[in-house]
Amino acid sequence: MGTYYAVKVARPPAGLTPEALRAGIERVLGGVIATLSTYDASSELSRLNRNPSTDWVPVSDALRQVLAAGQRLGAVSDGAFDITVGPLVNLWGFGPGAHADAVPAPELIRAARERVGYGKLELRADPAAIRRQRGDLYIDLSALGEGEGADRMAAWLESIGATDYMAAVAGTLRVRGKNAAGRPWGIAIEVPDPEQRSVQRILPVTDGAVSTSGDYRNFFKAGGKRYSHHIDPHTGLPVEQHLASVTVVLPAGTDSARRADGLATTLMVMGAARGPALAEAQGLAAYFILRENQGFRELTTTVFQQIEHSASANERK
Ligand code: FAD
Repeated sequence: MGTYYAVKVARPPAGLTPEALRAGIERVLGGVIATLSTYDASSELSRLNRNPSTDWVPVSDALRQVLAAGQRLGAVSDGAFDITVGPLVNLWGFGPGAHADAVPAPELIRAARERVGYGKLELRADPAAIRRQRGDLYIDLSALGEGEGADRMAAWLESIGATDYMAAVAGTLRVRGKNAAGRPWGIAIEVPDPEQRSVQRILPVTDGAVSTSGDYRNFFKAGGKRYSHHIDPHTGLPVEQHLASVTVVLPAGTDSARRADGLATTLMVMGAARGPALAEAQGLAAYFILRENQGFRELTTTVFQQIEHSASANERK
């Protein structure tokens, strides 16, 4: 996926060797790439994006489920999250293909925007199929793929009897049980500055999903301005903002890492003004890091504070 994965299993099931663990995990992630990647021309999604049909097109149930998750986030965020944003992502140089590190011409942004809009995409569950209003709609599931990977790794680990694990694809992960020392897994949230590579906070998590989305790695500078990979589908422009990163924590569930992944991106796109309000209204545990003057300021939702409070109470027991 153009990034790393990390898996730790404490008290592993009998007979699970590191080699078998690696092979199993890579098979699972290979399946995610074969379904969702826009970087692999042979994936199901890439084939779909090349298909100009505006009739119902059959899709695998695995792909339909991720598309449906994306459409739900589109509705919740009033289109701030949009899985059809791909033409803009690619135009700004944040997708597969050339990275120009330059601001595109306004007419190109306007033309790409016309192809964007999650309302232009319909889904059908049985038999699984999609229908697009325009043949040139282009779907980008990069904001959900890491989470999908973490959920599928967790499902596979549980199928082989693992009860205590941490399974991450870059900044999105699932954990269950306790670490090798018998303590909750400590999930590090980075200081949102790639120069520092230091830890802002460590969250103790026992059963759950955690995803962080930030604007501090994938960006370019032009004309003294900073352009990052979170695109506002309503303007066609990268979101200009003070928000440096958002971390979402959810209780464990079959699709919890995928939801956390998508929600973290949604909150980044909504920005410091609207993101915290949506997180609070949705009862999410979210942790925001805002850029301020020369440093950073933290903002947490009520549910996040409750989780932290009960984690430190457990710690004291
Ligand atoms: P996140 O915040 O999780 O997502 C940001 C991404 O979401 C943006 O980069 C954009 O693609 C998309 N986005 C932007 N704005 C919006 C919006 N308003 N609504 C919805 N989505 C939006 N990268 C490579 O370099 N090489 C690869 O081979 C490669 N393979 C991949 C295979 C798969 C299956 C997937 C899912 C991704 C792959 N990627 C690859 C992409 C990469 O790993 C990351 O997924 C991507 O850079 C974004 O993840 P993130 O965590 O950085 O940001």
